[in-house]
Amino acid sequence: MTKQYISMENLRFLLYEVHTIQDLLTYKRFEHIGGIEEINGLIHSAKAIADKELFPFFRAMDENPVVYRDGKIRSHPQLKNVFKAVADAGWFSSISALEHGGMQLPFMLYSAAHLIFEAANSSAQGYVGVSTGALELIETFGSKELHEAYLPNMFAGKWQGTMALTEPQAGSSLSDITTSATPTDSGYYEIVGQKIFISGGEHEACENFVHLTLARIKGAPAGTKGISLFVVPKFIQHSGELLDNHVVCAGDFQKLGQRGYATAHLIFGERGVTKGFLVGEANKGLSYMFLMMNSARIAVGQTAAAVASAAYYASLFYANERPQGRHIADKDLSKEQILIINHADVRRMLLMQKSFVEGSLSLVNECLKYFDLEKVTTGEEKEKMYLLLEILTPIVKTYPSEAGIVSVSNALQVLGGYGFTMDFDLQQYYRDIRIMSIYEGTSGIQALDLLGRKVPMQNGKAFQLLLAEMRQTVVTATAYPELISYSELLASAIQLYETTVHHLLQFAKKGEVEKYLADASLFMELSGIVTMAWQWLKQAIVAQMALHSGDTEKQSQAFYESKIETMRFFFKYELPKNSAISHTLMNLEMVTIKKEQEVLM
Ligand SMILES: Cc1cc2nc3c(=O)[nH]c(=O)nc-3n(C[C@H](O)[C@H](O)[C@H](O)COP(=O)(O)OP(=O)(O)OC[C@H]3O[C@@H](n4cnc5c(N)ncnc54)[C@H](O)[C@@H]3O)c2cc1C
Repeated sequence: MTKQYISMENLRFLLYEVHTIQDLLTYKRFEHIGGIEEINGLIHSAKAIADKELFPFFRAMDENPVVYRDGKIRSHPQLKNVFKAVADAGWFSSISALEHGGMQLPFMLYSAAHLIFEAANSSAQGYVGVSTGALELIETFGSKELHEAYLPNMFAGKWQGTMALTEPQAGSSLSDITTSATPTDSGYYEIVGQKIFISGGEHEACENFVHLTLARIKGAPAGTKGISLFVVPKFIQHSGELLDNHVVCAGDFQKLGQRGYATAHLIFGERGVTKGFLVGEANKGLSYMFLMMNSARIAVGQTAAAVASAAYYASLFYANERPQGRHIADKDLSKEQILIINHADVRRMLLMQKSFVEGSLSLVNECLKYFDLEKVTTGEEKEKMYLLLEILTPIVKTYPSEAGIVSVSNALQVLGGYGFTMDFDLQQYYRDIRIMSIYEGTSGIQALDLLGRKVPMQNGKAFQLLLAEMRQTVVTATAYPELISYSELLASAIQLYETTVHHLLQFAKKGEVEKYLADASLFMELSGIVTMAWQWLKQAIVAQMALHSGDTEKQSQAFYESKIETMRFFFKYELPKNSAISHTLMNLEMVTIKKEQEVLM
């Protein structure tokens, strides 16, 4: 068995067979793409970059983390090569419009490349991902002047883009941000304030930093309606020179994981005037950010699945090499020890990981396809894609992140004592994945978004559309005798899911908001499990279809059989958890809501 961090077979299976990326090429926006060969070529070039520039430096970037020294953040020297390789291959401009000098690729294809980068080295990929997000904001909402001033150098990987939202007192609650923007007569705003936890906020691989910053224009309404978006560069380019814009980097947060990825503390307007340039209209900053959040949240879910993928393959490799003990029914000590992959409990840990990783990646691609289709369709179809994406976004951010932590923990467990040592990579994956359920909105905030906003939106239309999609998969599966019992299990899980929602909505209808949302995180867990079972049945249908037809040209028979087995694992070991969670959600006893007498002591 060879060492790997991602399965290219699985990626191709999801892209071409389950979620059929090729459908997108029939739309005008993507008709310049040559076909599957071109897609394959791009994905393979991304793999070559990851193999050469990212994966070999995954440990080194953790062991030599970014540090703040002499007023600057020092980063690993390899980061420069990463930026160069990614820029040379065009990945920074890959989703940008042709008219702006971009490649105008589907987000699904861009994300396939990023998946490979994330699995190879999530710290290094973080810089690339956040810069592309910042680029997307400038391109979508910025003026022609901003395009001309910033896009070319960001495409070239010379300038790093960042997202500067969080402040010391405003993390989950962005309505509380206080960074101020005072208009001037010279076309810029004076920005004063502090931003913390800014990913990629400063390092040595780029010459300039372009902070997409949320700030409040003097006199703007309180709360979210008074927040605007600004481009705040570290240096302003003027007549070919880079002039200091007085953005001070006050430090780098030393972290549990992703230690190669800078997390800066920035101060604006304290040591001189910091100029900010308004993006789009005043007071619409948060709505612009929200428009970008779907893609950013899918990206975090995907990164979690990518890290869990790398951990899975590391533990699978180890399980195939490590002899320990004998077959459980064999007491003959004269026989050689067997490899641990033969022990049922080790197999359980491996199958659990495979089911979480490949299930999550399937859900990610489901969402990516909706994301692209929402851009290219019109009318009812566009509305449908929009609503499905809205309801699935908090789930696709949260399930891979939370299940990913469990998955990597099991990967580490497969190595026994060695898993806990610094000699193996598992400890790093375990630390790296922990951030996924925190940034880009914590799991708790995602759960409130799902139950508080997305389930009731448009009178439950998004939720009903999601159930209809799941039920369609149930119907399709009944065409295959081998899948009928699984389709029945999913059908009853969907029914129970719907019943649970109706139960919870009673509180919302009575205006009992706290009771309605108190167990939002449990509801998220339930949603994740049902959604995963849906994705597993979807994959199993494709695999069963291939096995029936004997068409093993795209993948081997063993690959398809392993898909069916993993679906069985998920339905036996994970799906049944839904009834216990529903039971708790429908239990009227309120334990977590604060009462007069404090119980937490
Ligand atoms: C490594 C790293 C990188 C980051 N990168 C960036 C970046 O690039 N740009 C950026 O702007 N920010 C970034 N962040 C900030 C990140 O998005 C925030 O840390 C996150 O949103 C949580 O905010 P907080 O830390 O203030 O926690 P808090 O908001 O204080 O939350 C603390 C706890 O309370 C819970 N909680 C909060 N409010 C509620 C509520 N209303 N109901 C129920 N529970 C609630 C949360 O779920 C959490 O469990 C980064 C953070 C880290 C650690």
